[in-house]
Amino acid sequence: MSVRMRHTRAHTGNRRSHHGLTAPRLSKCTNCSASHLRHRACSNCGMYRGKQVIDVVAKAEKKAAKKTSKASA
Ligand SMILES: [Zn+2]
Repeated sequence: MSVRMRHTRAHTGNRRSHHGLTAPRLSKCTNCSASHLRHRACSNCGMYRGKQVIDVVAKAEKKAAKKTSKASA
């Protein structure tokens, strides 16, 4: 890198002023009032816009079965 290409600290700071991270947008589930990400199904009850889209019970059972099989092996 040649000296000609060097930026000032202010120049670098100005560029990095747009690099800040924003906190995820959360909303409250209408079914169980747990917080969940916008435009995503609730991970607590599996509901999205009043519809059941994830079978939470089956998913939990599957996870538990996997865990026990892993422990026994
Ligand atoms: Zn919910």
